[in-house]
Formats: sequence, C-alpha cells, structure tokens
Amino acid sequence: QLDHTPSQPDPPVKVVVRIRPSTGPGSLDWDVKKISNDSLSVGDRIFNFDSVFDSNSTQEDVFQLVGVPLVNDALAGYNTSILAYGQTGTGKTYTMWGPPSAMVEGVSSNSLQGIVPRIFQMLFSKIQQDQENSEGRQFNYQCRCSFLEVYNEQIGDLLDPTKRNLEIRDDPKNGFYVENLTEEYVMNYQEVTQVLIKGLSSRKVGATSTNSKSSRSHIVFTCIIESWCKETSSKCFGSSKSSRISLIDLAGYEKTVLDDAGKQCLREGKFVKKSTSQLGYLVNALVERSNSRTFEVPPYQSSCLTHLLRESLGGNAKLFVICSISPDKKCSGETVSTLRFGQRVK
Ligand code: ADP
Ligand code: MG
Repeated sequence: QLDHTPSQPDPPVKVVVRIRPSTGPGSLDWDVKKISNDSLSVGDRIFNFDSVFDSNSTQEDVFQLVGVPLVNDALAGYNTSILAYGQTGTGKTYTMWGPPSAMVEGVSSNSLQGIVPRIFQMLFSKIQQDQENSEGRQFNYQCRCSFLEVYNEQIGDLLDPTKRNLEIRDDPKNGFYVENLTEEYVMNYQEVTQVLIKGLSSRKVGATSTNSKSSRSHIVFTCIIESWCKETSSKCFGSSKSSRISLIDLAGYEKTVLDDAGKQCLREGKFVKKSTSQLGYLVNALVERSNSRTFEVPPYQSSCLTHLLRESLGGNAKLFVICSISPDKKCSGETVSTLRFGQRVK
C-alpha cells in the first residue's frame, strides 16, 4: 500500500541520548531526568534531542528507534552511521556491541545484545526475505566488513593486529580507503558476529582501567553492502546499489583522564580531543549542507577520523549520534559537555 502524503525529508543527522543506570547513591542537588521522549532536564536546564532513553531503557528500545531505521535506510542505498559519544564508563561500548557472549547467543536468548549485532540480525533476515519474494527479480547481495582502530592518530587493523600504521589513500574512483586493511566477506549473522568478536577482542589487549587504551581509541566497524540484479534484462536496469554502514565507538573525551595520568596520556588526550572536535565540525558541515544551498567543503582532512568518515558522511548519508551520559554527580561536568556536543551537532 503506497502512502501518497508527501513525506518530510528526514534530517541527515539525528541525536539521541542514553542515560546509564547510576553507579552510586543519588544526589539531591544534581539531577538528570528524562522529562519526555525527546527531552531531559539537568538541574533546571532542559535539553532537547530526537530521542532520550532513560536508565530503564533496554537494548531493544535503542535498537527500535535507531537500528531499525538505519537498516531500512542502508537497504534503500543510503550510507548510514552510528557514532557513540561520551565519557568513559557511560555505556558506549555496552550500547553499541553489548557483551560478546550475548552476540553468540543471539537476540532471542540474550537481551543484552547491543545495537550492532541486532542491526546485522535484521539486515540478513531482510536480505533473505528479499531474495525469497522478489517478484521474479532475483537480487544478489554481497557484504564485506572491516574493523579498524584509530589510536594516537594511527590506524590499526583490528582483524589483523600485526597491521599497524596503515595509510589512508585516495582513489579517484572509489574515494578514500585504508591501504592494506583486512576485508572479510560475510554471508549471515553468525559470520558477522565472528568478525565483530575477533575485532573487539583485539581492542581489549591491555585494557584494565579507565586510562587503558580501549578508552583512548576510536574504533570503526564498516560493512559495505552491494546488491545487483541477477538477470541482465531491462527490468533490472539501474537496480544495482551500494551502501555502507559505519559503526563508530569513540574514545572517551574526558579531561579527568588527563589529570591522573602521565605524559603518554596527555599526548593521547590531545589526539582524542583534536579528532573529536574535528568530528563535531564535520557533523555540523553535514547538517549545514542539507539546510542551505551554499556548500562549504567539510574539513575532512583535519584528522584521521574525519578523513576516514568522509565516505560515510559525504553524499547520500544518514547519521545517528548516541550521546551516552551518567546520572551521577561526579560526572556532572562531562555530562554537560556531552550534551553540548549533542546540541551542537543537531
Ligand atoms: P564506555 O564504553 O562508555 O566506556 P561501557 O560500555 O564500557 O562504557 O560501560 C561501563 C560499564 O557500565 C560496563 O560494565 C557496562 O556493562 C555498564 N553499563 C553501561 N551502560 C549500561 C546500561 N545501560 N545498563 C547496564 N549496565 C550498563
Ligand atoms: Mg568503551
């Protein structure tokens, strides 16, 4: 059934906030509260976003509002991305991937599964459906993934940790790419979760405290989906598509890490700060571009991360930013700065 009401063009960037459960006794003079589906109050200040998830929200709730539209957009040919942003310990990794054991068990038996495995569960089931009832037009799908880490402005391959300091190259036909980065073809949910688990376990090496490498690196999982019609008849003309899904778990952008850490950490903090603020500009540029006729070239090359995301955020792109925050008083400064970032990119 076709809907003939003209639809509002969907904004290219949507910002949602997730409040994690408190880790300690509450505080009367510091209060973070969801006040409606799209707003929250911090003390007497009110912040508006596209959606707000409170500490009772489930992984499924986040998936329904972020993951489902993302899969539909990806299959419609858009480049889609999720960026998880926020202080270390606020649940970025929890929201994005969930525990690896939950990935293996699958969503029907483990409700802790993060948004990324849920996305691929839905994606592969839609692909399978499409192949079964495509009204005579047989489509082929091919999905390939890569998983990288940006640490101190250097790119490492999470699917092959022996590959470090990889270079970004510009190919006139295919755009920017990371030279030598491992690509794995995946056919189903089981295969993609194997790749995810492998990559996430490479990131974990040496990670024990909040100052560990895992909180100082950005990780980017990319899946490129290509589809084309099996027949060469005219009804299939123009029906090949290519889109990419980029899932980005950002380094924590907090000042506190700098205070109790040594020189190395200060250096790391500087890189994180640089790439994260550049990312803010990049996301802004994406919004500006869709709002106005004047087109300014976004500052893609200003850091490794923005450079890499050029292919994901340029052109026909949709982005979800998930800001993760803690309701605890000790996090108040970082919470406000995360919410400000969220408002800035909206
Ligand atoms: P980050 O990646 O932002 O540093 P994590 O995802 O590692 O934070 O979360 C820190 C800890 O808090 C983990 O033990 C995680 O399981 C837990 N946690 C985070 N968010 C939630 C949530 N919404 N519900 C339950 N536990 C959570
Ligand atoms: Mg994390």
